[in-house]
Amino acid sequence: MPNKLRILFVASESVPFCKTGGLADVVGALPRVLHERGHDVRVILPRYRSIDQAKFRLLPLLPEMKVSYGSEVFSGSILRCSFPGTNMPVYFIDEPHFFDREGIYGGPNGDYLDNGVRFAFFNMATLWTLKALDWQPDVIHLNDWQTGLIPALLRHHPVVSTDPHYAETKTLFAVHNLAYQGNFDKYVIPQIGLPWSVYTQEGMEFYDKASFLKSGLAFADRLVTVSPTYAREIQGEEHGAGMDGILRHRSGDLAGIMNGIDVQEWDPTADPHIAASFSAEDIAQKKACKAELQKAAGLKVDPTIPLVAMVSRLVDAKGFDLVSESLQELLALDAQFFILGTGKPEYEELYRQAAATHGDRFAAHIGYDVPLSHKAIAGADIFLMPSEYEPCGLTQLYSMRYGTVPVAHATGGLVDSIVAVTKGTLKQQKATGFLFDKHTSDAMLASLREALALYRKGGEAWASIQRAAMAQDTSWDRSAGEYERLYRELVRSKKGT
Ligand code: ADP
Repeated sequence: MPNKLRILFVASESVPFCKTGGLADVVGALPRVLHERGHDVRVILPRYRSIDQAKFRLLPLLPEMKVSYGSEVFSGSILRCSFPGTNMPVYFIDEPHFFDREGIYGGPNGDYLDNGVRFAFFNMATLWTLKALDWQPDVIHLNDWQTGLIPALLRHHPVVSTDPHYAETKTLFAVHNLAYQGNFDKYVIPQIGLPWSVYTQEGMEFYDKASFLKSGLAFADRLVTVSPTYAREIQGEEHGAGMDGILRHRSGDLAGIMNGIDVQEWDPTADPHIAASFSAEDIAQKKACKAELQKAAGLKVDPTIPLVAMVSRLVDAKGFDLVSESLQELLALDAQFFILGTGKPEYEELYRQAAATHGDRFAAHIGYDVPLSHKAIAGADIFLMPSEYEPCGLTQLYSMRYGTVPVAHATGGLVDSIVAVTKGTLKQQKATGFLFDKHTSDAMLASLREALALYRKGGEAWASIQRAAMAQDTSWDRSAGEYERLYRELVRSKKGT
């Protein structure tokens, strides 16, 4: 088998071109790292209005694309640029009727009503592009519902499925967020030329709708999500968002690979946002970061009092229900708290009030502030993350790199990235944080008390947790190695039917 793989990433967003969420960070990082590792990697995106043609030097590549949809024929073109700082090709499907709009998925009045048609077109146009370029990737790496029809087209579209051009190409469907499913009117199926045989419970039918997510889950050769524990959890009813049945059915084809982080942006030895640089070998200057955070937050500047931080959307899924209901107990602890975030108005108000009445130990900054998020993560001693569920989670990874010890609910990517403190892991100097099992405020408080007690004891135990946390490899390079193994397995496997 050739060492060099041909991989096409298909996605609806990517840093630095367009972003609404974490998906864009993954697509902006993983293909680039795989490209650096010597593979022929290319990315394909819709060309939205907000993507600056001059800034990214988008040039025409294929001027006349035609894709039929029902009785209509949509025409557009393909543009190309190199991913900034590399020579990795990025293709853009340019069809003004669908993509020359203010937003990506919607405008001020909500989602665009024709999103089903827009992304069905994007999927067809992607396959058209491969053929026009005469390029046959080994693997098409698909991302979320916006790309979910491609596996169905490759397997069941009468023309596409019999075209030798695609015969050797395998598909990997990646789930970043199971809550977004792309469920549309079922008449998209004949319009795009798929047979009704795909519209079954085992296929893409979902409560009388055609689900693009389920199409990806049902018809891709392999599935992947952003952490091993989340891959298991979504096969159960509690976290399965209605898709647990099909995910259980495909259990043997479902992998979990943790996302990496941008280790240049989040580097305690060279972070322009923090008061002083520090590292695992020389952690003394973390104190200066703590003093800076205490000052910025209006808390008492005191190196001895433990400082607990949270940086997050203020919503129930992130555990702010637990924080809010146990606020009095938290305020009674011998610790300082700093919360940075925006979200549910009643939580914003509650924390503003707590800050007004307990300013000596509780501070909240209601807003989105990247430099302050770096100061909080660098300056705190403990990072609290009581998420109800967490597909991967990034802030615990940032915190650990800065020697800030996480106290987190044992769910999803938090389980996979934090080695829980136990007698054994402490002795082996492997522990990197505290995990609590039950999603209750009592369990959270007990775990936080345990962390505070160990912090106060000081000495070697706490220092060894910080060292182990800071030594973890959270780079994209590690994840890319796992993806490479998965692609190779997929290439070796027989094509599905
Ligand atoms: P999710 O994507 O579910 O919100 P993650 O932990 O995966 O959770 O990622 C959240 C990202 O948003 C992190 O990079 C975090 O630093 C950032 N973030 C969240 N809230 C804020 C805020 N108020 N100010 C600055 N950055 C924030």
